[in-house]
Parts: sequence; structure tokens; C-alpha cells
Amino acid sequence: MKNKTRIRSDYSTPLDDSSGKRPNLHWGLRWAAFTLGFVVLGVVMAKSQEPVAGSPDSVRAQARDSLQSESLGLPAAADRSSRTEAEARESGVANWQTVTVSRGDTLARLLEDAGIDRRTVHEIATAGDAGRAMTRIHPGDDIDLGFDETGRLVRLDYRKAPDRRIEFSRDGEAFEGQIVKEPLERRLEHASGVIRSSLFQAAADAGLEDRMIMELVRIFGWDIDFVLDIRRGDRFTVIHEAFYKEGDRVRTGDIVAAEFENRGTVHRAVRYTDAQGDTEYFAPDGTSMRKAFLRTPVEFSRISSRFGKRYHPTLGRMRNHHGVDYAARTGTPIRSTGDGRIVQRGRNGGYGNFILIRHGSRYSTAYAHLHRYASGQRVGSRVEQGEVIGYVGSTGRSTGPHLHYEFRVNGDHRDPLTMEFPSVDPIPSEEQDRFRQAIAPLVAQLDTLDRAYAALDE
Ligand SMILES: [Zn+2]
Repeated sequence: MKNKTRIRSDYSTPLDDSSGKRPNLHWGLRWAAFTLGFVVLGVVMAKSQEPVAGSPDSVRAQARDSLQSESLGLPAAADRSSRTEAEARESGVANWQTVTVSRGDTLARLLEDAGIDRRTVHEIATAGDAGRAMTRIHPGDDIDLGFDETGRLVRLDYRKAPDRRIEFSRDGEAFEGQIVKEPLERRLEHASGVIRSSLFQAAADAGLEDRMIMELVRIFGWDIDFVLDIRRGDRFTVIHEAFYKEGDRVRTGDIVAAEFENRGTVHRAVRYTDAQGDTEYFAPDGTSMRKAFLRTPVEFSRISSRFGKRYHPTLGRMRNHHGVDYAARTGTPIRSTGDGRIVQRGRNGGYGNFILIRHGSRYSTAYAHLHRYASGQRVGSRVEQGEVIGYVGSTGRSTGPHLHYEFRVNGDHRDPLTMEFPSVDPIPSEEQDRFRQAIAPLVAQLDTLDRAYAALDE
């Protein structure tokens, strides 16, 4: 496979490990994922077992192999058993002892039981960051203690996490500690699924954690309504990070590229860290996956009245409904759907407690019947997308607790449920080359996977 080498060699993106910045994802569509469990379709997953030559599975296995990611060749940490004698001599360790933390143990008791004097225990517990980390011990953890010929403690090793351990050693009289970071090997892995019953089921069949599917929903949630739009036969592919230590997968990381085919329309997203170091998901054409407006301002709610003509319950006649009503419990937080500035905040006739937010020169959003306002904000305050501005209530002309939400373009009311929202911050033109270069291997990999899975369907 020609692609294989190319993809592999292109894959050596800089390692960022867990210290890397998380993409700036808003609270977005957690509610959607919350509701996903109820989507009533059924799922089958293209899941590989032992590949047989020429079978669809072998195609899949090939696709999988071609995508198995880079090994970054980071130095593996020497564990205690592999330490050389020279090292042991250097640190003056004559013999090692391992103590295991039991439930209810304190560091002091554990060490004193191992025969370590109080002065040294005190020295360990008060040794800055390393000392603080030492005092947080967990049942089942092992602590390695190294003693010299006289039985004096000269080394202490405590593995806190696969990529982090605490190391104490004796320097003359002082027993000094440090936290040692051991980078994990980063690989890229992929999974694909076809929705037969629910997205969560398809994801589980594909071996994806719930966390990963939530991330997928957040990425595509701006373009796809995961509650209403998902259909049987929709499919997805996810390329994500996984971190390994000595061949064992320690944890998964972020999604770096993904594809979601919804009702025949293919959506793609790639993760990109710009020249300023900000990470965000973009469509391959450089537009942000994130839109300037959230689809809905209340997280846990149901739509009780849509935009357009309707019978008005309190007026007793047909009239045009200029917004969307979300029924929710009194006190449910209301979020600004976009970055903007509060231009009105107060009692407003039938609207009751009311907020109007202006987003640039064209757009504004209105929120009515509030129980109360968020504290610390007033007319003129800047608010960010997703920021809580008030709480659902039933003030003004209202029959029960709900939010009446309006979306206005140049003062005209639009349906916020069908409106095409503008994207935010596309890749600036001067960074287009850098962007294209960075995402090329990911796009190629999605293409390869598409071909592999298309071959399965034939
Ligand atoms: Zn309304």
C-alpha cells in the first residue's frame, strides 16, 4: 500500500501528551448527548475479529494497520527491576523493600511501620510539591524503599501515574524529592461504526468510550441535531489519540479527526492548533466547526412552542409566535447563545423579566419570562457564548415556567431552530498554508478509511 508509508511518515506530529491544551469547547450540546440514549434506532458495527485473507475483515485489518500510528520512540522509563547495579551503587542502595498502601494508611504510619525514623518521614512529607504528592497515597499503590548497608533510607520511589512518579534520594544529610514526568508514547487509533439503534450503542460496539462519543457530539453538534436528525445507516469514523506505556494502552486522548455521515451528508472535522497555540476543530476548508450561536439557550428542556403561527393560549386566538418556547423547571440556567453585550435587562410588559443581547451589528437575541437574572451582570456587560445570564421563570404573560427565546437579524425575527448560523473565526488567510499542511495527513487518513469501509459494502 502506497498510502501506508506516506501516512506513517506524515504522522509524526509533535507530541503534546496530557499537558496539551484542550480545545476550547463550549458546554455545547451536552443535553443532546443526554437525550441520545433515547434515540430509537438499532446498531451494527463494523468490528474486526481475526482477519481472514481476502475477507472484509482483512480489508479492515489493512485499513487499521495503515493507520496504526507513529511510535515516537520516547525513552522508556527504567523500572526498578531493570535498574543497573551501577545505578544502585551510585545511589548507595543495598536492598530494596516494597510497601503497599492499605485502606486507612497514612504516609507516616506506613513509613514508620517500615522502620523509617520520624525525622526522615517529616522530611518527606514537607518536601514541597513532591512531599505534597507523597501525602496523597491510595490503597493498592506500591512505594519502593531503598536502604543502604547501615539500613538508612537513601531512595524512595512512588509511581503516582503511568506518566508520573515521585523520586526521593539522599544527598548528604538531606533527603530530597522530585516529581519525575515520563512521557507516554502517543499513537493514533481509529474506530468506525454504523448506527442501527443508537449512537451510544454504535460507539460502544466500535470500542469507543462514552467520553469519546460525547466529544464527537460536541464537535458535530453545531451542524447535526443529535436528538432529531440521527437516522439508521448514519455512520461515523473517529481518529483519536491513545497513550501507551511499554506497550500497554494507558488512556485515550482527544479526537484528532472525525467524519460523520448524517442522512447522506458527510461532515468532517480536524483538530488544529494555530500559530497562537489555540486548539479548535475545523472543517477541512478552514471554517470553524463552532458556530457564532448555540442552537438552544437552555440545556435541559423541551420545546413547548415553535416559531411561527400558533394558537395563543392566553390571548385565545391565532397569532404569530416570534420565538421558540422552552419548557423547563423554574431556576433552570439560561445561557447567552453567542458572544455579545447586554443592551436591555429589566421588566418589559408581557415579556416579564427580559434580557436583550446584541451580537455585533446584525444579530440580537432576546430572553423572556425570567425568574431572576444572573448576578454580576448589568446593561452594558459583555457576555460569552454559553455564559449564564438568568434563570427560567414565568414572569409577564406566561402560563407556566418557560423561556421565550427570540433570534433577530437586523431586527427581523428568525426561527432559531432552522436558521443557518455563521461560523466563528475561520483560519485566517495568512495561516491557510500552515493549516493545510497540518491537516493533510489526517484528511488522507479519513480518505483511506472511507475507501476501506466502502470496499466492505461492495
Ligand atoms: Zn414564546
